[in-house]
Amino acid sequence: MYRSHTCGELRIENAGNKVKLAGWIQRSRVLSGQIFADLRDRYGITQLSFIEENDAAIFAQAKKLGREFVVQIEGKVLERQSKNTNIPTGEIEVEVETLRILNSSKTPPFTIENDTDGGEELRMTYRYLDLRRSPLQNALKLRHKVAMEVRNYLANLDFLEIETPYLIKSTPEGARDFVVPSRMHPGHFYALPQSPQTFKQLLMVSGYDKYFQIVRCFRDEDLRADRQPEFTQIDCEMAFVEQEDILQTFEGLTKHLLNTVVDAKIEDTFPRMSYEEAMNRYGIDKPDIRFGMTLWEITSLVKNKGFVVFDQAEYIGGICVENGANMSRKEIDKLIDYVKRPQIGVKGLVWMKCDNELKSSVDKFFTEEQRKEWKDAANAKDGDLLLIIADTQHRARKALGELRLHLGNELGLRNPNEFAPLWVLDFPLLEKDDESNRWFAMHHPFTAPKPEDIHLLESDPGAVRANAYDLVLNGNEIGGGSIRIFDRELQATMFDLLGFTREEAEAQFGFLMQAFEYGAPPHGGIALGFDRLVAILGGQENIRNFIAFPKNNAGRDLMIDAPSILHNDQLDELSLNIKD
Ligand code: ASP
Repeated sequence: MYRSHTCGELRIENAGNKVKLAGWIQRSRVLSGQIFADLRDRYGITQLSFIEENDAAIFAQAKKLGREFVVQIEGKVLERQSKNTNIPTGEIEVEVETLRILNSSKTPPFTIENDTDGGEELRMTYRYLDLRRSPLQNALKLRHKVAMEVRNYLANLDFLEIETPYLIKSTPEGARDFVVPSRMHPGHFYALPQSPQTFKQLLMVSGYDKYFQIVRCFRDEDLRADRQPEFTQIDCEMAFVEQEDILQTFEGLTKHLLNTVVDAKIEDTFPRMSYEEAMNRYGIDKPDIRFGMTLWEITSLVKNKGFVVFDQAEYIGGICVENGANMSRKEIDKLIDYVKRPQIGVKGLVWMKCDNELKSSVDKFFTEEQRKEWKDAANAKDGDLLLIIADTQHRARKALGELRLHLGNELGLRNPNEFAPLWVLDFPLLEKDDESNRWFAMHHPFTAPKPEDIHLLESDPGAVRANAYDLVLNGNEIGGGSIRIFDRELQATMFDLLGFTREEAEAQFGFLMQAFEYGAPPHGGIALGFDRLVAILGGQENIRNFIAFPKNNAGRDLMIDAPSILHNDQLDELSLNIKD
């Protein structure tokens, strides 16, 4: 037996016990005649003491203990002289009677403690050392807990966890596929699933009416901060359901997680908001409703009054910063720079301070009377600051939405310990890509249109709403799904609309449409982003901390050095060697 207890287990009640512990030396302090060492495992830290007077040989051995040496000790639990109230084992120490050095360690490249001096890159290269640190261990424990809660909750509702294959054919979720060459079929490739979408629908056709899977998905997207090329979803599908059934089931799951994992005490049903309302009031389809500062529009109030920027804009609207009138010119200029960044890309910001006088950056174009109307439209109080953007509706609302979140962060209005979930509903079925002038499925091509909008499919596709829904938490989309098409003809029409020829649709998704001809039940589902959900429950934005072995922002695994090149003979074997 290597150990009788873990390093997080011993308490004052154990004083006098003989124990065996094993773990890593986090640090040691050599005093005259006595050495203190912190012994760490994933359960905690226990202080060891070595006393020269008791055993000079062990003391000499202990002197050699370096950071991260792996040891096993036997000894006696004693009450500590000076107690450490910061850790649960802080009232005791173990006086070591036998010491076995199980393995030595090179000096680690960064300190393995709660706070570390290692930079991101170094820690990613030595991820196995970073993972010894308790913040990361706690993150992975949280991840495990959430996974267990999800499995228990859904299993209790009769969901079955069923695995679907990784070596498949393209599933359209709007990203590029990662592909795997087939050695046995030269020139042929598997695609890794962007999601198990088609398989879970086929499981519904097969009669497994409640399916879930905590599953890896792969999307070859352009690099964006905090995106992982492989990530985990809680993927779910149900048959014989309507949208309402799905919303209630997964609202139940989300509430359960919020209440058991973070004790958020959420009792009320989640608010629901249409896509239209979200865009109008928050400028984004995943609103953070922990704070107000919602958008208002003043297009008709301010247009054609001689200010060319407003006159030429399709949309003029703004947000109101409570008590923002005391912002300095410099602070406002910073906000102007913020919205002019290429990522946001509007030309500027008009401001107005609601003080005794209504001072604005466009006073020469608008009378005090007119500016008073803005204040009313914004529902502003004295002391508030109005920030106004004029552009196309799309760009202006998006910019205001971003500015709102930016100010929310700056003003500390986004408390990570507060949880505000909601549903966003009634998404458009299709969106048009202006460049190619083609329609794309906003969710994916299997999403069903609202029955009452089906007649618009041919005449006005942009107006058709989908039976699709997103679950949003604190400004993050943590889940999305839809009621599916289960009729072959409607599915074929959808592929037509999306610009597939009949042959292309047949080649790519013929298997699904064929399945629809053999008694497909009505069905729908949802997938929750597991990494992101865990990160939010852990009160953090960075999902990498919640994944044991993540890729960096450039999609690389620095520890194993992947992706890497293949040797010629392997390329030959895969028929990938392109000579000349
Ligand atoms: N397959 C979808 C996704 O990955 C989710 C769903 O429609 O269930 O976003």
